[in-house]
Amino acid sequence: MRYETVIGLEVHCELATDSKIFCSCSAHSYGAEPNTHVCPACCGMPGMLPIVNKRVVDYGMKAGLMLNCHINRVTTFDKKSYYYPDLPSAYQTTQWFAPVAVNGLVEIETSEGKKGIRIKQIHMEEDAGKLVHDIREDTTHVDFNRTSVPLIEIVSQPDLSSAEEVEAYLERLKALLRYARVAECEMAHGTMRCDVNLSVRPEGSDKLGVRTEMKNMNSIEAIKRAIEYETARHIDAIENGTEVLVQETRRWDDIKGKSYAMRSKETAGDYRYFPDPNVMPVVIDDEWFDSIQASLPEFPEVKREKYTTELGLSDYDAEQIAKSIALCECFEDAYSVCGNAKDAANWMISEVMSNLNARQMTYDMLTLDGKALGELISLVSGNKVGRANAKKILNAMFDDAAVVPSKYAEENGFIISNDTGLMDKVIKTMVEADPKAVADYKGGKEKAIMAIYGKCMKELRGNCDPQMLRTKLIEYINSL
Ligand code: ZN
Ligand code: MN
Repeated sequence: MRYETVIGLEVHCELATDSKIFCSCSAHSYGAEPNTHVCPACCGMPGMLPIVNKRVVDYGMKAGLMLNCHINRVTTFDKKSYYYPDLPSAYQTTQWFAPVAVNGLVEIETSEGKKGIRIKQIHMEEDAGKLVHDIREDTTHVDFNRTSVPLIEIVSQPDLSSAEEVEAYLERLKALLRYARVAECEMAHGTMRCDVNLSVRPEGSDKLGVRTEMKNMNSIEAIKRAIEYETARHIDAIENGTEVLVQETRRWDDIKGKSYAMRSKETAGDYRYFPDPNVMPVVIDDEWFDSIQASLPEFPEVKREKYTTELGLSDYDAEQIAKSIALCECFEDAYSVCGNAKDAANWMISEVMSNLNARQMTYDMLTLDGKALGELISLVSGNKVGRANAKKILNAMFDDAAVVPSKYAEENGFIISNDTGLMDKVIKTMVEADPKAVADYKGGKEKAIMAIYGKCMKELRGNCDPQMLRTKLIEYINSL
């Protein structure tokens, strides 16, 4: 018999807000001393009242709209009770009865073609703290820096049926949420974590099999291996009766390449969800909703299409720039000033990206003023600044956002001089200093001239039109 795998995902993404979800503590405490980003509210002290961070609701809405969800205009918070040392209040404030976004759809593409994955809901909630186990002292410590860091949990319908689809789905979520600047979604940084719900059934059947859940998966490779392992385990149990499948939570051991039973699966009833009387319902009026909708970016594929068809970029160039919304915005601003899309794309792909790499910055971290870049590109194409000097200016622009290219060029002597007299003088000096290169050139070695050309360029500090220098140099040597 042939089987199909049925997979639903619960994906937790840490929102990129500055502060936590219900207090003003910083949400960024990575690498900080334990328990230094905490206050009575996020430590669950009795009597403290939470206040919803508006930015979290903004981001929840944006995520919902990017994933084609319906936004609940009245969205409420609920208590999810469970007892664990990393949860100081013994309940998580989350959304159960009226999550911010419901009924979405995400389109993915795999080798099998396109497919729509339905989103059941997106809810906003607080993260828990971290337990730090000290093996030498045989003790466990609790770090509350991460408690109440805002998360969204994206719950899909069980519409995924292979590891390849899961990978495509996660990549798509990451691309869309990053485009909206809502979340970083980097599994390696723990800003995206994934629970995999999986069952197996005979192909064509519409009845779901016994479902198991693997929690807190944090790499796509591990998820893919876990899905393959679990699928094989389920089929083996069904076909050969090797074990009785039960609904449970399992732990994936990536080193052993196996999953282990952890605990029998909780049902919603175990959590005793009830409306949190301390958090007021959030009412999203038209003005708020419209402002969020107006702030949404175009989708990556819309950008790519626009860049190739309207601006004439190659598929490769369009794809490179569309990788990040920050690159797109910088490119579009640069183009609006310099008026040459191909030039702007070249500068983005060669110089801007290599500056980011050299600074170990991701594309999304780009804050370069695109309009200033456009001005710089115009200076080069207008033969006002040489390319080598323009790279120095760009470098300065990365170091200091206040650098104005034309002003910086003037202050640092980077403006190409129209003084042909100076150029002639330099050519004469350099040619006389290297009679061998001149003889080689006249003897047919065209490349021999490059050494002299380079020395002239250096002497002129790069401030000359390369084409003019070349022409003048050849004319002068030929006249000897
Ligand atoms: Zn706090
Ligand atoms: Mn959750």
